[in-house]
Amino acid sequence: MPLVEHLYIHIPYCSSKCHYCDFYSVVEKEDDSYFDILIEELKLYNFDFNVKTIYFGGGTPSIFKPKSYDVFFKKLNRLLDLSKVEEITMELNPKDYEKEDFKALKDVGINRLSFGVQSFNEKHLLWLGRAHKKEDAIKSVAYAKEAGFENISLDIIFGMPEQTKEEFLEDIENAISFDPAHLSFYMLTYYPATPLYSKKDEKKHEDDLALFYELLIEKLKNYIHYEISNFAKEGYQSKHNMAYWEYKNYLGLGAGAYSKVETFMFSNPKDINLYKKNVLTKRLDLKALNEEEHRKNKIIMGLRTSKGVEESMFNIPKHLENFFSKENGRVFIKPEFWLISNAIISEVI
Ligand code: SF4
Repeated sequence: MPLVEHLYIHIPYCSSKCHYCDFYSVVEKEDDSYFDILIEELKLYNFDFNVKTIYFGGGTPSIFKPKSYDVFFKKLNRLLDLSKVEEITMELNPKDYEKEDFKALKDVGINRLSFGVQSFNEKHLLWLGRAHKKEDAIKSVAYAKEAGFENISLDIIFGMPEQTKEEFLEDIENAISFDPAHLSFYMLTYYPATPLYSKKDEKKHEDDLALFYELLIEKLKNYIHYEISNFAKEGYQSKHNMAYWEYKNYLGLGAGAYSKVETFMFSNPKDINLYKKNVLTKRLDLKALNEEEHRKNKIIMGLRTSKGVEESMFNIPKHLENFFSKENGRVFIKPEFWLISNAIISEVI
């Protein structure tokens, strides 16, 4: 029976849709019965569970109050042994929780919070279509710290067309001022089928983006830069996300969630009603990938990180040798070239 140590749980509700968002979510009233479907879905899988990490992503997991998670964990505990769980992450929108909610969340067992701050600049928050203000983020992170959360991560987006170097520096400094254990800085992406896509021609010039990225690396030199977009203090690298990048097994529950278990990669429909129907009729759609597809995926994921992949996985093309380093039988892209890693990786595979 395949061993599964990592659970992803997708919460597909949002209070409004951000202009750049490519994640599956609907702007509908959240419904607690969704948690029952998650439990029913879990019952469909005959895997050897030894859960080490759980990650609530979205959508907006904080659209539900901690009470809903309390009820969910009581049910989950009846199905799985959660005594070995090391990390339970929840993504939050800065506006959703009050002081007492953070305390309740801690009691539920959530021990890592990932705040979708995106920017501390009101003009850019508005442009991105975020529903919160700078003050909401400041207040929310303070509440979380007061409640005793140590493992806090902030998500920031950079590269908005109008963003100046000074504004980006301000965002970096504001983020560092919270002394978070973890920081993720994502470059703005113009995904098709998002409102932002129509503005793709306004995209910041690549030279400016490269400059911003250099600045970021310089400013965050006290953090470990362990993945293209991710920085952590020692011991605070995201265990759950590392599992993806190391190509371990993970099971995704919920509408639109993806899974990888041994040779199988599968996903649930990006439609809450269809997802529910599939679960209730026990319809699973597992697809096995061949060895070559897995090899490519493993390279794509591994080369995002400072650990890279085993040297034996591919031969570095002669013209790309300068972009790579080797150490202890592993090969990785030099951090100064991470910004163009997508182009490098696609040449490799
Ligand atoms: S809150 Fe997150 S998931 Fe929801 S629309 Fe905004 S970016 Fe997308």
